[in-house]
Amino acid sequence: MAGLLAGLGALGLKNLENMDLFEEKKDEKLAKDAGKKTVIQETDYLFDKVYECPVCYGQIKARTIKVGKARLLHTDMDLRPVYENIEPIKYDVISCPHCGYSALTRYFGGLTSSQAKAIKENISRAFNPVIAKKDTYTYEEAVARYKLCLANAIVKHAKASEKAYICLKAGWLIRGMGESLEKEGKTSPKELAEIKAQEKEFLKNALEGFVAARQAESYPMCGMDETTVDYLIAVLSMEFEKYEVASKMISSILVSPSATNRMKDKARDVKEVLLTKIKEKKAN
Ligand SMILES: [Zn+2]
Repeated sequence: MAGLLAGLGALGLKNLENMDLFEEKKDEKLAKDAGKKTVIQETDYLFDKVYECPVCYGQIKARTIKVGKARLLHTDMDLRPVYENIEPIKYDVISCPHCGYSALTRYFGGLTSSQAKAIKENISRAFNPVIAKKDTYTYEEAVARYKLCLANAIVKHAKASEKAYICLKAGWLIRGMGESLEKEGKTSPKELAEIKAQEKEFLKNALEGFVAARQAESYPMCGMDETTVDYLIAVLSMEFEKYEVASKMISSILVSPSATNRMKDKARDVKEVLLTKIKEKKAN
């Protein structure tokens, strides 16, 4: 896990204040100057939601996506949702600026007293409070929040599924970062390859976690039913050339009486890609 958390030390969050990778404000101005009538800003999709931290009882104002405002463009094969004008995944980690407690929105409240104690001892004690309040997060800031979230999950001995879900979303977020940089032409092939490697490292851990969770946990898992988790394991296994696992999962979805037609259609699409990949591998 050490590689995944690299950079957390720098998360004294002071450093992040100077990272302005995307210069969003400037881009928005450029777009305006280019003669667009209305520029939808990321802030238009966001509002502050107030939470009480279950570890230090401080107040957290979390930037939150307005429900129903963002328009879904498509989902990637591994179910990553892609929205117009906004990357909601950036805003799914709630992080306490006072003590460092961080969790995905779905898991924010459910903390036992021993978990809170573990976070106090292992996270809060060394955590530098975050003073600057941000209207939006850059991708880099969002990735740092996911790393802190994952560190919290490890410290509190979260279930495998929760850790897998954090890794999955972090992987998706990093893919979005790569796509965004590519679109803006602000990157080099070398940098893109590094970003891809980071994405794959998170997704590899997501796969491991979901495979472990599938053996030990019940459904729904991270809000997903059994078919969806199996589908995800199939696609991620294919990504990492574990073709046997992928084939097994896809076959079980295709014969499952509880799988929806939509899921079966998606599984058929994966099967096609999978067969091509297996053929290619045999040819080499
Ligand atoms: Zn706190």
